[in-house]
Amino acid sequence: MAEIITLAHGNGGKLTHDLIKNIFMKHFSNDILLQGDDSARLELPAGRVAFTTDSFVINPIFFKGGDIGKLAVCGTVNDLAASGARPLYVSCGFIIEEGLPVSTLEAVVRSMGETAAACGVRIAAGDTKVVEKGAADKLFINTSGIGTIPDGVVVSGANAKAGDVIIVSGTLGEHGCSILLERETLGISASLASDCAPLNGMTERMLAATRDIHAMRDPTRGGLATALNELAAQSGVCMRVFENSIPLKEETLGICELLGLDPLYMANEGKMIIIAPATAADNILETLKQDRAGRDARVIGEVAASPPGRVIMKTITGGSRILDMLAGDQLPRIC
Ligand code: MG
Repeated sequence: MAEIITLAHGNGGKLTHDLIKNIFMKHFSNDILLQGDDSARLELPAGRVAFTTDSFVINPIFFKGGDIGKLAVCGTVNDLAASGARPLYVSCGFIIEEGLPVSTLEAVVRSMGETAAACGVRIAAGDTKVVEKGAADKLFINTSGIGTIPDGVVVSGANAKAGDVIIVSGTLGEHGCSILLERETLGISASLASDCAPLNGMTERMLAATRDIHAMRDPTRGGLATALNELAAQSGVCMRVFENSIPLKEETLGICELLGLDPLYMANEGKMIIIAPATAADNILETLKQDRAGRDARVIGEVAASPPGRVIMKTITGGSRILDMLAGDQLPRIC
């Protein structure tokens, strides 16, 4: 086995096959991949099919709390979970920069295999391409995912209604903050780690406890403020949130204050926004708190009829502040 990825690893010949056998099959092996055909044949349980895709270009590829492989699986699984789906199958496409150590690739692939197993999904298809030095930065991964939505589950960003409560599953901004600290030499030492985690176990338990969930969204790039703006626009409602209810770690607040950043716009990779009738809130919170990823869940606001498409925050000092979508790029290559 070579120690460095070369262009020949992506040409479909012997080295590609070595890579598939010694790296991908070793960590992903399952009966679907072993079919060895041009496409995977999948069994799907009854229900509507949810299908999503995402590309991962994060820099650096290893960070406190995760790596690009774990992030790729969690990102795709969480988008399926946000639709009320039970994630089942994931595909992965690797674009590798020539010169990447094989051991680095294997560490990422191992992490993907472990994360997929932890989520209960199978990696059912994959592809590898190698590009010349400088044509990519180390490693990019695309993942797609398929899941099924059980009968009776109707969760959509368009379904938020006036009178609903807005719940978040935990403290916000940690992925964005921790990647920023990894990348810059700011002289700040922090224990903050990315919150990168799969959420499908948590959402499945919640949907088993109540079908009274109108909308969900994972607040990734652009953070809470951007995700709430998307939901407000999609549902044609106003999202009102209370600053003193928004869960933030002291450390996140401190770093954001120091750098002049707003934690409400910082990315999360292991949090869910849940919008549901007020009568279901206690039941939802109780279920969320049973999960590690939902320990700090709480109600942060409510849905109002107007002004439609707006997100308004009641500040700690009693004022009102309009939270707009993220403008510009707070931090590129965050996921
Ligand atoms: Mg999403």
